[in-house]
Amino acid sequence: MEEYKWLKLKKSIKYAYNTSPFYHDLFKKNNLKPSDIKSFKDMNKIPFTTADDLQEKTKSFFSVPEDKFVTVFTSAGTTGKPKKAYFTKKDIDKIITSTITGLQLMYSITPRDVVRLSFEIGYGAEISGSRYCMNKAYEGIGALTVAPSRLRVEEELEIFKDYKPTIFMDVSSRVNYLTNEMKKIYDLKKLGVKKILIGAEPTPNAMRKFIEESWNADVFIGYGTTETGVLQAGECEEKNGMHLNEFNFFTEVVDPATGEILEDGNLGEFIFTTYDREGMPLIRYRTRDLGRILPEMCPCGLPFKRMVIKGRVDDMISIGAGDNLYTRRFDDILFEIPEVIEYQVILNRKNIKDEITIVVETEIIKDSLRERILEAIMEMPEINSGVLSSKTIEKPEIKLVKPNTFDRNSTKQRRLIDNRNLYD
Ligand SMILES: [Zn+2]
Repeated sequence: MEEYKWLKLKKSIKYAYNTSPFYHDLFKKNNLKPSDIKSFKDMNKIPFTTADDLQEKTKSFFSVPEDKFVTVFTSAGTTGKPKKAYFTKKDIDKIITSTITGLQLMYSITPRDVVRLSFEIGYGAEISGSRYCMNKAYEGIGALTVAPSRLRVEEELEIFKDYKPTIFMDVSSRVNYLTNEMKKIYDLKKLGVKKILIGAEPTPNAMRKFIEESWNADVFIGYGTTETGVLQAGECEEKNGMHLNEFNFFTEVVDPATGEILEDGNLGEFIFTTYDREGMPLIRYRTRDLGRILPEMCPCGLPFKRMVIKGRVDDMISIGAGDNLYTRRFDDILFEIPEVIEYQVILNRKNIKDEITIVVETEIIKDSLRERILEAIMEMPEINSGVLSSKTIEKPEIKLVKPNTFDRNSTKQRRLIDNRNLYD
């Protein structure tokens, strides 16, 4: 694997330098030549490529004439204007072939499978690329894909009864929501869904367990970014970390503040370099996703390393007296409470104190639930010390609202809304 990675990496860097105006300029500005990269460690000589670069100078990334492109995926992410990733026919074919291999290898998908693929289509949707590639990949395997856009709960249930899908695929907040709603009107275990493939969003263990038990199915989590080529990692049957697609990407984990390359096992930001991308190669692309590469090989026997996601770099918020808090911590705490369907944390600052409002979607609008949520939140040391010791945080306010209050048409569920304008 190491030898393979090195050969691919060298070739990709040379290709980008020779063909992409963006990378040619970047190397020149930094007095670099591809031959200066003599080992994996030398990668730190190459500056990172950011989402801003992609947004502002999209066309300077092009390694081929514009008319060679056949597809463009846009991704909104959670903030900012859309980033655009262009693909040639050769690039797309490659992505689909590797997706087919992944689906067959990891999830044993066969032509007998029926797939309910309800990823949303639409401009600016990060998952539109996933939808396109997944649809083509299932087609390549020979499985039937049922893919009307997202439907209302009752209509969705009809789809499941009618086509009897064995595979269900969408982002986790949507699967979680549908599970909750459909469960009220039908025993989901009777539907015969075997595997639920989810991704694009944080999926806490409690949520996975709830979904698995409700459907009597296995939940597998995947990871990908539109910019680098959609499907980059997926869980195997061990459900302990996602195997990286090391055939198509070079992965680094770096300290988000200093850029230093970290050893496996350390928490940092994921950086990807594409191999053999014809149209728009990316070298050291910053994902802003935080996590680690597991140092041990997986007991399942696959020779690919595993990654775990711990949050977004931008999700690390400073709260109260300067305590750093990963917003994903709220997931772990709130989704442990069975009545919680979805939530939003809203941060405001009044004078010098932080105000935290936690809005929870639930069936059960009762004071006792409100108290239980408050108790759980107060157990977070960062909040507890801010409220009780340093007095930099007001006692959190818990608001309970009916299911489906939050806007689910936006492509990604936004769980944290920080109105404090701390960085302006
Ligand atoms: Zn494995």
